[in-house]
Amino acid sequence: MFTLTPEVRFAIDAARQASLLVREIQAEMVTPALTKSDRSPVTVADFASQALVAGLLAEAFPNDPLVGEEGAEALRTPQEAATLAQISAFVARKRPDATPERICDWIDRGAAGAAQRFWTLDPIDGTKGFLRGDQYAIAFALIVDGQVQIGVLGCPNLRDGYLPDQDGPGSLLVAVRGEGTWLTPLDAPETFTQLHVSQRTNPAEARLLRSFESGHTNVSQIDVFAERLGITAEAVRMDSQAKYAVLAAGGGEIYLRLLSPKMPDYREKIWDQAAGSLVIEEAGGTVTDLHGKRLDFSQGRTLANNRGICATNTLLHPAALQALRDM
Ligand code: AMP
Ligand code: MG
Repeated sequence: MFTLTPEVRFAIDAARQASLLVREIQAEMVTPALTKSDRSPVTVADFASQALVAGLLAEAFPNDPLVGEEGAEALRTPQEAATLAQISAFVARKRPDATPERICDWIDRGAAGAAQRFWTLDPIDGTKGFLRGDQYAIAFALIVDGQVQIGVLGCPNLRDGYLPDQDGPGSLLVAVRGEGTWLTPLDAPETFTQLHVSQRTNPAEARLLRSFESGHTNVSQIDVFAERLGITAEAVRMDSQAKYAVLAAGGGEIYLRLLSPKMPDYREKIWDQAAGSLVIEEAGGTVTDLHGKRLDFSQGRTLANNRGICATNTLLHPAALQALRDM
């Protein structure tokens, strides 16, 4: 087992509470009656998740900054009063002292910049998956001196860290630097089992983890990559950092984030990569950028010094980087 320091204990509890709250919101608000253009469930869940975690952090480690994806500026406007009331009602289920004003203040604690020691939160990663009733993740990490020390992924719709299951217990993955990656069910008493990446070495058998959404990557280039490696195994399609959980749990071997041709200057956001990268590394995997450079979390809100992501089970990393160089 890993050492349950106060920080690790807090990271697990906060990510679990946020994951369970967000799962309730998905169950209650993402219904068949939802129209395609109605993003309100994910708006409510995103803010509720960040408010909850930021509020807990303010009490547990009041001096630690939080770099969160969301800000509350728009929420404070009169037009959003109804949305804010909905968010408050959901957060109040977990902490009765939640009020609209407190919610906004908690959320805005996430506007901090990176520091020597700070936390980073993606309150809901994979918003499109969330709205489809599909995969999404809550990602929470502690970064010290530009290095991820603790990474927690809450995946409410994954069983055993890799199997899609909308009605199961969900997965909580906990990675502690130097102490492995561990899995426990999300909504059951804690029983930690250690995770290890798959041992596949043959590129033909490599299962690619692929996005559902085409706009976040370069789909045709991933096809070229698969051809270069001679991959014949079927890809695993999934939204969000849940893909990092699957890789850590041995349900796939290679995950790339290539730059979308529509946004060639896109830089990865730290909250999209911090927790997931440690979860993979501590399970025995390797995460670099597309040039093989290690991820540099000392550059503020983005990975400004890196381009894209290449994550593998380590055994296939050299082959993956070589294929990327050849492309
Ligand atoms: P996925 O669910 O793997 O398709 O990706 C979801 C993530 O893609 C979200 O966390 C977004 O922050 C991120 N994202 C949004 N736009 C882009 C873009 N143009 N390029 C790369 N990633 C993006
Ligand atoms: Mg995200």
